[in-house]
Amino acid sequence: MTRKRVESRAKCTHLGCRGLAYPFTDPPLCRVHKGPLDDWYGSALLLISYGPKAKREWAEALAHEIYIHDLISTPPARTFFGEFETAYRKQEGAGESEVGYRFLDVVYFFAAAAAAGVTGNLAYDSLRALVRRVRRLKQEIGTVSFEAVVSRSTYDRVRRREHPGKAPSRSADERITHSVRKRYSLVVTLKRTGRDR
Ligand SMILES: [Zn+2]
Repeated sequence: MTRKRVESRAKCTHLGCRGLAYPFTDPPLCRVHKGPLDDWYGSALLLISYGPKAKREWAEALAHEIYIHDLISTPPARTFFGEFETAYRKQEGAGESEVGYRFLDVVYFFAAAAAAGVTGNLAYDSLRALVRRVRRLKQEIGTVSFEAVVSRSTYDRVRRREHPGKAPSRSADERITHSVRKRYSLVVTLKRTGRDR
């Protein structure tokens, strides 16, 4: 980003903050003061829906990319996504410095779901079953397996590090189920079916 463009962005309106505003915030708020990511995304989509119709599709796509980027940049989601991306680069014979790939939405969802599972100390098989229940496979665009993104060994290692000495939970409580369901609806763009119209 050029210096001029940075300076033209609005300043955070949080009292005493001098940060630059995060995209699609009204009143303008910085990354720190915008609140939880899911809440920001919901209000960004609302804000966009009030805006000019001609720019809507573009703005929605941009907000979606920002949302996904921030979602998987946060640990432990970053660990799962990073491992998948590294393996993919290796398979493609691409170096570390090459530009980033855009994967299927569901890849990002798996990393975010695994992060929710780690937070709730959920067992790997229980998380995988929950993910299977939440997905609407027939409406997804493209396909990739959960195991290809979140390996059992990495998941267990990260989970044990977060909950040392504790046995994992075998059933997902309401909070994790809600969180995984919500992430699915926010991350994965589904094909429209006749029923949705
Ligand atoms: Zn701020």
